[in-house]
Amino acid sequence: MSTTPAASSRPPMLATAEALGRLLDAARQVDGRERVGTLDALNRVLAADVNSPLDVPPMHTSSMDGYAVRAADLAGASEGAPVALPVSQRIPAGHAAGPLAAGTAARIFTGATVPPGADTVVMQEMAHATDDGRVAFAQTPAASEWITRQGADIRRDSVILPAGTRLTPQALGLAASVGCADLDVVRRVRVAIFFTGDELRMPGEPLEPGAIYNSNRFTLRSLLAKLGCEVTDLGIVPDRLDATRETLRRAATDHDLILTCGGVSVGEEDHVKPAVEAEGRISMWQIAMKPGKPLAFGAVRRGDEGSEAFFIGLPGNPVSSFCTFLLFVRPFLLRLAGVTNVTPRVHSMRADFSQKKGDRRNEFLRARVNESGGLDLFGNQSSAVLTSTVWGDGLIDNPPNHAISAGEIVRFIPFSELI
Ligand code: AMP
Ligand code: MG
Repeated sequence: MSTTPAASSRPPMLATAEALGRLLDAARQVDGRERVGTLDALNRVLAADVNSPLDVPPMHTSSMDGYAVRAADLAGASEGAPVALPVSQRIPAGHAAGPLAAGTAARIFTGATVPPGADTVVMQEMAHATDDGRVAFAQTPAASEWITRQGADIRRDSVILPAGTRLTPQALGLAASVGCADLDVVRRVRVAIFFTGDELRMPGEPLEPGAIYNSNRFTLRSLLAKLGCEVTDLGIVPDRLDATRETLRRAATDHDLILTCGGVSVGEEDHVKPAVEAEGRISMWQIAMKPGKPLAFGAVRRGDEGSEAFFIGLPGNPVSSFCTFLLFVRPFLLRLAGVTNVTPRVHSMRADFSQKKGDRRNEFLRARVNESGGLDLFGNQSSAVLTSTVWGDGLIDNPPNHAISAGEIVRFIPFSELI
């Protein structure tokens, strides 16, 4: 994200990179871990390193169906003068192998143990059964062919997955490959969320004049679910200071983070910021970004415990809440969950459009990858137009006051890095 400071006579706004830095500095991994079955650990975060108690594979294995031999026994073999060997044993996968008698071949299958004494495997397509029950080879094999060496994937006692790793399907497979039946993971992060706005109705309810559907509930709840959070949804809170304060107090108990949506701007109906100030503190407000400027960060006191719950207030506009969640809430929650690397990978890509200069804010433009490997821009970049987020494949991170010309290389963060 851009670090360009806002230069203007208007009140300063925090640059996105600085705001993110401050947010992440405040994040501390939550206390508490639990042991869960490896099959149930998808998307959880490792609380401790996983060490391998064994080599993988645990023995030399064949990576082909064929014959295990001593290469020296086939010295001089050619099309004109093939060498035939008797077959001294048959080794399917999962069965023990005896030593290979000199001058013989062992029939072997993929994944089976290479017998002691054999130094190479010849794939069966390169061997021919002879009429007298032997097997003939028309080439001298290279040493160590089609053998996966013991420990080629994993060495015994090595760290295969460090603490702070978020468990992907591949990581679970790797843990299982060294025999881990269960894993130490950080407890789930507890999030309370509520939505402000007297205009909000739930799908299924009638929409009277002036009302709109609470679409953000669906986007934000789904994003939280994908991050593996334990969520308490406190629903829609009326645009009143007392109701907002009361809900904040309730949310602070038993939650690590309070996430709110809407009511955090500067209007008379925006009660979230004053409510948080009354119940705790605001440490950051208004970021030099578009969409998402009203984003707020702080904390809410928990009864008289002396502790506090983190607070992040998202703007109500659907694209603003979506983008600020992806760029700020996601890395913050991952940090609370103990994840080490929370930075999305940014791609350098060609803009196949031009866009006039923005203002002093860092823009996050909804764009799509086209068939020639460049980026197209969604026509309407309004923060109320949710269609752009479904059409797009990600966000262009455009620095403040920067016009984009066609052909220029821009920074693109794909949604696949963020969702
Ligand atoms: P606010 O941040 O409360 O000033 O709201 C900004 C805009 O976003 C207004 O047009 C609201 O109606 C709209 N909005 C607020 N909350 C939601 C929500 N949960 N779902 C959809 N739109 C919302
Ligand atoms: Mg509102």
